[in-house]
Amino acid sequence: MGRKKKRVVIKRVKPKLPEFFLCPRCGSQTIQVELNRKELFAVIKCGSCGLKEEIKISRGSQPVDAYAKFIDEYSS
Ligand SMILES: [Zn+2]
Repeated sequence: MGRKKKRVVIKRVKPKLPEFFLCPRCGSQTIQVELNRKELFAVIKCGSCGLKEEIKISRGSQPVDAYAKFIDEYSS
């Protein structure tokens, strides 16, 4: 009997792909968002012009949320 082993392998690998966003100051797609979920803030950093900003986030925020907030605050 060809017994098929049901092997369910759940890989819990979180690829840590850096997400880059568009920088409102220099216009390069070099903004990186580092989330600090413990203390609920995000550090927005531009690898091109050196722009650096700390943004408060809420629980469950994604990098894109922090970025959106950053853009909001930057343009106001
Ligand atoms: Zn920049």
